[in-house]
This record gives sequence, C-alpha cells and structure tokens, in this order.
Amino acid sequence: MPKVVINEELCEGCATCVETCPEVFQLGDDEKAHIIGPDKLGTCNIQEAVELCPTQALTLE
Ligand code: SF4
Repeated sequence: MPKVVINEELCEGCATCVETCPEVFQLGDDEKAHIIGPDKLGTCNIQEAVELCPTQALTLE
C-alpha cells in the first residue's frame, strides 16, 4: 500500500492536491496541506496530485 508524505516546509498551500484528491488532502488553518485520508489514495489519481504539486512537496513511498 503506497503512502503519501507532505513536506510541510515546501508546501505553499496552493490546494491543487486538495482539488485532485479531496478525500486524501485538506488545507489546515496553517494554510498547509494535511493528510486526512491516508487510506484513501485509491479514490483519486494520487500520482497526478504528486506530479502537479508546484513545489514538489509531495512524495509517494
Ligand atoms: S499541491 Fe503541493 S504546495 Fe499545493 S497545497 Fe498540495 S502539497 Fe501544498
């Protein structure tokens, strides 16, 4: 089962990942993406979310 990790220092809160995978990511009050559904990677194109992140803050492990 792949796992997605956010580098919060790199995240700039653009919300692209939230739009692509709303069941996996949510923007927090700190305007950084957070993982709300680590087991929901299958509900969206997680690979695309990782690739579209403008700051390469997301990695799949
Ligand atoms: S796409 Fe990247 S920079 Fe944008 S909110 Fe998600 S993790 Fe942060």
